[in-house]
Amino acid sequence: MFDDLRDLYQEVILDHGKHPRNFGPLAAPTHVAHGDNPMCGDSINVYLVLDDEGRVKDAHFDGKGCAISTASASMMTDIIKGKPLDEVQALFTAFHAMCTGKEEELPDNVDHDALERLQVLSGVKEFPMRVKCATLAWHTMTAALEGGGTVSTEEDE
Ligand code: ZN
Repeated sequence: MFDDLRDLYQEVILDHGKHPRNFGPLAAPTHVAHGDNPMCGDSINVYLVLDDEGRVKDAHFDGKGCAISTASASMMTDIIKGKPLDEVQALFTAFHAMCTGKEEELPDNVDHDALERLQVLSGVKEFPMRVKCATLAWHTMTAALEGGGTVSTEEDE
């Protein structure tokens, strides 16, 4: 990666880390889950409101985490708003592949613009421990959709 691109990515991550979007609980979420990343100490909650058609109407998060996990949660809550669940799922599959350096298997229905925005976090693939920081919000969001509770990155492969 070129240094100026790396700086730009760094700037976006720091900005989201310092001024997270959609931060704070939702008054009446339809889905909630808690996510822990013990390796780093990241601990977040994800709040979702789904509409009658199964689209994400609203998404928020709160908790404490490093700049990467906070930036990832901030971007995720922004990006999934308005999306149907199958697209959200496809995006997570593609994002997870990007973070772990397996970019070849992209689902058909993935939103390429959204994936491009998430590219700023793809630098974590060089730092395996940081992959868990970047994917924590997504694992937590998935847990919320599957009925809530707590998810821990310790159980991730
Ligand atoms: Zn972290």
